[in-house]
Amino acid sequence: MRRAVIVGAGIGGLALAIRLQSGGVDTIVVEARDKPGGCAYFWERDGFTFDAGPTVITAPDALRELWRLSGRDIGEDVKLVPVSPFYRLSWPDGTRFDYSNDDTQLRAEIARLNPHDVNGYRRFLGYSAGVYRDAYLGMGAVPFLDFGSMARAAPALIRHQAWRSVYSMVSGYIRDEKLRQALSFHTLLVGGNPMRTSAIYALIHKLERDSGVWWPEGGTNRLVAGMVALFERLGGVLRLGDPVTAIDTLGDRVTGVRTSSGEEIQADAVASNADLVHSYRDLLKGSRTAQRTCASLLGKRYSPSLFLVHFGVRGTFPDIPHHNVLFGPRYRGLLADIFDTGVLPDDLSIYLHHPSATDPGMAPEGHSTFYALAPVPHLGKFPADWDDLAPILEERLLAEIERRLIPGLRGKIVTRVAYAPPDFARDLHAHLGSGFGLEPTLLQSGWFRAHHRDDAIANLYFVGAGTHPGAGIPAVVAGARATAGLMLGEVK
Ligand SMILES: Cc1cc2nc3c(=O)[nH]c(=O)nc-3n(C[C@H](O)[C@H](O)[C@H](O)COP(=O)(O)OP(=O)(O)OC[C@H]3O[C@@H](n4cnc5c(N)ncnc54)[C@H](O)[C@@H]3O)c2cc1C
Repeated sequence: MRRAVIVGAGIGGLALAIRLQSGGVDTIVVEARDKPGGCAYFWERDGFTFDAGPTVITAPDALRELWRLSGRDIGEDVKLVPVSPFYRLSWPDGTRFDYSNDDTQLRAEIARLNPHDVNGYRRFLGYSAGVYRDAYLGMGAVPFLDFGSMARAAPALIRHQAWRSVYSMVSGYIRDEKLRQALSFHTLLVGGNPMRTSAIYALIHKLERDSGVWWPEGGTNRLVAGMVALFERLGGVLRLGDPVTAIDTLGDRVTGVRTSSGEEIQADAVASNADLVHSYRDLLKGSRTAQRTCASLLGKRYSPSLFLVHFGVRGTFPDIPHHNVLFGPRYRGLLADIFDTGVLPDDLSIYLHHPSATDPGMAPEGHSTFYALAPVPHLGKFPADWDDLAPILEERLLAEIERRLIPGLRGKIVTRVAYAPPDFARDLHAHLGSGFGLEPTLLQSGWFRAHHRDDAIANLYFVGAGTHPGAGIPAVVAGARATAGLMLGEVK
């Protein structure tokens, strides 16, 4: 028997599926929703394409590798185009900072904010390169199954002062508060508070600098579609719109899955790409050890949720780049509100996505596609009535963008749709509506995170944001390599 079932067609699930199928394992992916992608779902409305989640595509080589496994080229299915600047960051006082991997331009931008920091940036880059080499290239695809593996990682973690936060580490090199924000906000893209997330996540800076920021023509949904096309060409089966209702166990083995349509699919191994709490609590109800794991998971810290407004607008905006961050007046206090106190702040920081800047095909001719995203406390910290709150927050986000970036915006909107924390909980079974799963703190990383293989059930595996190395496309693709390594070693 050489058959595996994967629960969920998120990017991690699909990366694992491609690896297994390329390795000769008959693989069936069972997805609850009508389209694959998970966080990278999408909608088409009135001629606009709205990607639901990931937009900043980094580490393209990790994606290319999925095609190379079977001697193919990613270009057959996905056209990746470079994005520059990577981000335009702006503050309420009108300060702007364009962030890219053009060294001369970046240094000039830093010098414009604070000339003393050019030298500090050079030293920060050295730090970032070291953690990138040791933590991402060296440990990104390592399955941390036992404490020994964590102990082996300890010297590198100590060398890079992993107990310090990204913000603290950046502040050791950089004096200017805005530049500190510019070089530390990236952890928010993977659900981490820069004030608390381990300094090893400063590796994201080097990762972006070396591999660039990319955009799949037609949207992130085309990357997902390309992964599905590759998987199906290899002979894999994707089943959509059929939620898994149970992962069946017999003793300390899984035997397969059952789905809501009544299908029973037997398998030698099952890998869950679904939310960890949902997997253990709801799908493994019959397993006592799984329920114990679930109890421990419920005690962990979860990353915030997100509030998004997708909107299609009349007109084009060549002066607004693809990726924009509109910082609010507060940074540390705002993060504490969202991550700790569970307060919905008045002064939001906004990520504004403008894909039609790179790819006009994302909107009808003469129109533009945007989404605005604000991190908000998850449902455990802030159990609000979002039916009432969402329209108010939607107006606030749009008003802020209108004030700072697009005068008269609300009069130009042709179509719009908001997406709130309960939507994450309902559509993705995301525990507490979290946007990224377990918060990436040091004590929830590596061996301390959910393992790629269950400790007690030998042929039950996990892939995706809940496992090492965490959330974000490069991370779930690297994690899929770790899970596939374990599965191919055992299933074959
Ligand atoms: C708004 C947003 C913006 C982001 N931006 C970026 C970015 O710019 N760059 C970046 O790198 N990362 C970004 N991320 C993070 C990144 O998108 C995620 O970490 C990553 O896509 C998660 O992939 P995953 O493999 O863990 O699966 P998920 O995307 O979580 O998918 C899990 C899948 O399992 C399915 N499922 C759940 N339960 C069942 C069941 N019972 N039966 C069958 N199927 C089930 C779900 O429907 C879903 O399709 C963003 C995330 C969000 C939410």
